[in-house]
Amino acid sequence: MAQMGSVTGQEFSRGATRFAPSPSGEMHLGNARTALFNYLLARQAGERFVLRIEDTDAARTRSEYIEGLLADLRWLGLEWDAGPGREDALGPYCQSQRTAYYTDWLARLEDLGAVYPCFCTALELEASRRAQRAAGRPPRYAGTCRDLSAPQRARKRAQGIAATLRFRVPLGQRIEFTDLVHGPQGFLSDDIGDFVIRRADGSAAFFFCNAVDDASMGVSRVLRGEDHLANTPRQLLVLAALGLPVPSYGHVSLILGPDGAPLSKRHGAVSVREFRERGYRPEALLNYLFRLGHSSSNHALLGLPELAHAFDTGHLGRSSAHYDEQQLRVWQKAAVHQLTPQQTRGWLAALLPEGIAAAAADAFVAAVAPNLVLPQDAAPWVRIVFGGPPALESLDEQVVREAGPGFFAAAARAAAASASDPAAIMAAVRTASGRKGAQLYMPLRLALTGCRHGPELGPLLKALPAGEAERRLARFA
Ligand code: GLU
Repeated sequence: MAQMGSVTGQEFSRGATRFAPSPSGEMHLGNARTALFNYLLARQAGERFVLRIEDTDAARTRSEYIEGLLADLRWLGLEWDAGPGREDALGPYCQSQRTAYYTDWLARLEDLGAVYPCFCTALELEASRRAQRAAGRPPRYAGTCRDLSAPQRARKRAQGIAATLRFRVPLGQRIEFTDLVHGPQGFLSDDIGDFVIRRADGSAAFFFCNAVDDASMGVSRVLRGEDHLANTPRQLLVLAALGLPVPSYGHVSLILGPDGAPLSKRHGAVSVREFRERGYRPEALLNYLFRLGHSSSNHALLGLPELAHAFDTGHLGRSSAHYDEQQLRVWQKAAVHQLTPQQTRGWLAALLPEGIAAAAADAFVAAVAPNLVLPQDAAPWVRIVFGGPPALESLDEQVVREAGPGFFAAAARAAAASASDPAAIMAAVRTASGRKGAQLYMPLRLALTGCRHGPELGPLLKALPAGEAERRLARFA
């Protein structure tokens, strides 16, 4: 039998949390939050954070989704202690590579009489479910194959029907556990139909491999989506039958879109990749997700060690969390503000004109960064600063004309004489025109940028290419 014994006592007793995604799609915000919470729980308790890829369903698994998951987790900074690329004695960490373990555990269950082959076809099962619903009963496996005799089974096999393997749920039991989020839970075993633990194609099914893997990887606490709450009693039954250790489970409320429906593609960007490609910062996403369904009195932008310190399963809400991109943008703004100039330049790199000198890039970044949430917000300012004199709308042109040629002659002269020093330009125009406040800076802003609003004028003047301020101002002299 493949040995759970290769599990070293020391590593095992340290305890672990895990993130166990099924790679059947891109990592979305809900997965990312589950990964974050488990990571934080492990870090704050000095436990291991395990990454296990649940890829037994070959038809739904794609290798690019696995690559994507790993890349997203790394981008978020949620490095795993054990998992793909960090194998150890408790691995392998992709379920598709754990067949030998499953075969052994399934054989053990067969020896115990805890499982039986089921020959029901998909069509028969559907008909049975329909009949139960029509009779007002919740659909569950009717037990058709539970007590087949050995000759009956042999006959089915001889007919070439591929059997699934079902777990024989003991009757008349009450299954209890205390959920880390929802508190005491109780289920009647009679309400749980016998469930499939090996598919007809021979692959191990979720209830079984998820549970035995947690046990054999030393996972002591599991935070996962609330949609798995009703699966837990089944998994407890499997673990009890095999005499395996049981982790503590916490089921985290689902994330809903603004319309109250479970968050999905129709609510816009939901995959971590999309947020990354739009220029969201990992710190912003982490801080937002930390507060999505988890209350915290700390409202500062926190790094992962501080988030781990502040995380508390007692603060996980029981009701659904509502996704709100505006809130995410607030965190994004905070994250962008704390970037160094060099980081901001890297963040905007794709938008900057090709071959731009480092000093020019720095001046541009210094001018526009305070107004940015996403890199795309800088695109119009790239055009305004580097794309030649802006055209003016007629009302704006009126404002400029009212200021008069003398105003702009003084401005252009001062720009030329001072290498576009903002204070020198302001002082010269103030003296020449007697204007102040908006009367002073609005005509300047319009002549220079073509916009009434935008980044501060001083840094913008410094960001304009050499001689450009004078050229733009002289147009109206
Ligand atoms: N592979 C399962 C999922 O992605 C894992 C559930 C669990 O965390 O136990 O939903």
